[in-house]
Amino acid sequence: MPEAALPAPPLGLLEALRSARRPLVLTGAGMSAESGIATFRGGEDSLWSRFDPTQLATADAFDADPALVWAWYRWRMAKLRMSQPHAGHAALAALARLRPGLVLATQNVDDLHERAGGRGVLHLHGEIAATRCRRCDRPQAIEIDPAWAERPQLRAAPPACAVCGGPLRPGVVWFGESPPARALRAAIGAAQVADLVLVVGTSGLVYPAAGLPAAAPASVPRYEINPEPSALSAAMDGLWRAQAGVALPRLVELLAQ
Ligand SMILES: [Zn+2]
Repeated sequence: MPEAALPAPPLGLLEALRSARRPLVLTGAGMSAESGIATFRGGEDSLWSRFDPTQLATADAFDADPALVWAWYRWRMAKLRMSQPHAGHAALAALARLRPGLVLATQNVDDLHERAGGRGVLHLHGEIAATRCRRCDRPQAIEIDPAWAERPQLRAAPPACAVCGGPLRPGVVWFGESPPARALRAAIGAAQVADLVLVVGTSGLVYPAAGLPAAAPASVPRYEINPEPSALSAAMDGLWRAQAGVALPRLVELLAQ
């Protein structure tokens, strides 16, 4: 099937970006989906597809059956490690170099922004590979084995903490947990002084991240890049119904002209 032609950017976006000094960019699952990473809420044919992710991604689920929950996360960690950032990730990193005041906040738990050259990314839902002890909370890195993705197992005991022997947990924010306080504070602060808000590939359903565009002053222009309508679309000044991996490079290209 031929690729749909890229529509022109929404009116005013390029001008807003030209004059912006402190743009806030918020990315969501759609951004990672273009790298082949299934959105958290989307179904996927896997060992765990009969489980409801909202039932696996909780502290209670982990405590009740650590091996089941850990095996799911290590499978996802390995799949993320094998995926690659796309042109949209690289374009955002380029945009940050053109606009050093840009703040990038993401709901994604992967490191695709960083691997494309992004710096200082605010991870509002944590980072999956930033493993730490469930008992004593000390961070402890692990080696990610590609076999976890290639030959997944439904259960695997989590590695033991080197200090207290407690089980290691993924660095994500589980349902019922608070977002990392420092990242959230920084993102809200960036929204409050932003002169442009750009929302990319987020459903706009998960708070507090989804509340960031509203935290910017009312006069600040807000734009969305998303092939699908989102819960934030109605609050935007302009919508660009396009893939991030196509639209963002185009935006950087137009900015350079
Ligand atoms: Zn420990």
